[in-house]
Amino acid sequence: MKIGILGAMIEEVQAIKNNMKNVETKKIGGREYYTGKLHGIDTILAFSRWGKVASSSTVTTLINTFDAELIVFTGVAGAVSSKLNVGDVVIGDGLYQHDMDARPIFERHQIPLTEMILFRPEKSLVDNAKSAAEKFIAGINENIPAESLQKFSISKPKVFAGIIASGDQFITNAAEHDALRIDGEEVFAVEMEGAAIAQVCHEHDIPYIVVRTISDKADHSADIDFPAFVAEIAPHYSDGIVKGIYAGLEK
Ligand code: SAH
Repeated sequence: MKIGILGAMIEEVQAIKNNMKNVETKKIGGREYYTGKLHGIDTILAFSRWGKVASSSTVTTLINTFDAELIVFTGVAGAVSSKLNVGDVVIGDGLYQHDMDARPIFERHQIPLTEMILFRPEKSLVDNAKSAAEKFIAGINENIPAESLQKFSISKPKVFAGIIASGDQFITNAAEHDALRIDGEEVFAVEMEGAAIAQVCHEHDIPYIVVRTISDKADHSADIDFPAFVAEIAPHYSDGIVKGIYAGLEK
């Protein structure tokens, strides 16, 4: 089994890389790919870069050049659901591109030529990632300094499996949340890569999972909270949850 891991932020990638053994670096298309063993499994790790195009390119290289057989995406996201707080985790059990709109040729949000709106990862991978995140949260006080947790009012974070909206915008306005909704489904989080990864993996028939830590509420305060959260909190989440995902996989 060969796993490809993509991180949304360099800080998250670095935290995971610190646990890799026999690391070699290969540069392709302006990106660095780190190969080696992570928790005993052959792994290729890269910074996805931001947005749908950049992350699609990076994941395609993981699949075609490095023969990844499973893709794990880990990163931060903004909350859309009012159930969520900073420090909670959303495992994408459905992902769609909120800025795709090729009407009247295709239905709103439908990806041309696929007849698909929502991409859904395998349930077993969602369940595995959910229990990995729950285990990480249960031991969060051992992994993240109390001072950092207090700074972001993280006390008892929750883990959800839910729908993630992806698009090429950093959302900083709660008034825009309504536009992110899709018919009859609750949208949990918004980010810039997940549904692109899901589309590429679907087209290549490669299993995938998208894990997002809530860094902000996708409102006016989003860009203020963001840098500190990425520096102090997110790398611990990515590292710890990926570790749990690996432990839960059948090797
Ligand atoms: N301005 C930031 C980087 C922006 S990229 C900086 O200079 O460091 C933002 C990353 O966070 C992307 O990977 C995106 O998926 C995620 N993200 C977090 N909160 C988001 C939000 N409110 N809207 C969209 N993407 C968000």
